Amino acid sequence: MDLNELKERLEGKTIEESMAILTNLFPEKVIFTTSFGMEDQIITQKIFTNNLNIKVATIDTGRLFSEAHEVFYQTLFRFGKTIHTYFPDYQSVEKLVTEKGPYSFFGSVEDRKECCRIRKRVPLERALQGMQVWISGIRAEQSDVRSQMQQLEYDEHKKLYKYYPLFNWTYQEVRQYAKDKYVPYNILHDKGFISIGCQPCTRAIQPGENFLAGRWWWENEGCKDC
Ligand code: SF4
Repeated sequence: MDLNELKERLEGKTIEESMAILTNLFPEKVIFTTSFGMEDQIITQKIFTNNLNIKVATIDTGRLFSEAHEVFYQTLFRFGKTIHTYFPDYQSVEKLVTEKGPYSFFGSVEDRKECCRIRKRVPLERALQGMQVWISGIRAEQSDVRSQMQQLEYDEHKKLYKYYPLFNWTYQEVRQYAKDKYVPYNILHDKGFISIGCQPCTRAIQPGENFLAGRWWWENEGCKDC
């Protein structure tokens, strides 16, 4: 099935219907990765309450906020479902920290990307192995780069479809839905943290700053990817 055909199948469908269609078309091959941000928590709630056959997975980089683990725990407690957890290769982390210390990522963009590759990208690639659809919580509003993306895309490099259920939602809609449905969320969201990644690399943002300004804040805007 090509991208346009798949787009037609999802046209006019709700998020829940779209995810159900994807699981029917690609049984056991749909994964959703969460880092327990508010968008991710909404998607998790939709997957778990609708019993969708989607593998829910997270990457534990070893540098997460304790508040993220708290939401992880609350989510398990609330829904009683499994969240598959992937860790970085311990030997790579040991080598990195032994050679460069615990804050190598502040040294340069290359050092930061090296840490992200070891702690996030490699375990993520392991999680995505064999999958045909990757669902994530990206929203168009989050950055200029993201606003240029499509809600459903095909990634030629990874050879899988990417689907962003909340692509067209505003931050206000995200917050409202989480409130209305009592979705467990990271309390840092109430303290100015919008996009939450690893603890040393995330800060709260000020009114008027863009949504991703708190991530790797010491770098130029153009460098901000993993
Ligand atoms: Fe390392 Fe920071 Fe990337 Fe986390 S966000 S993997 S701590 S560089």
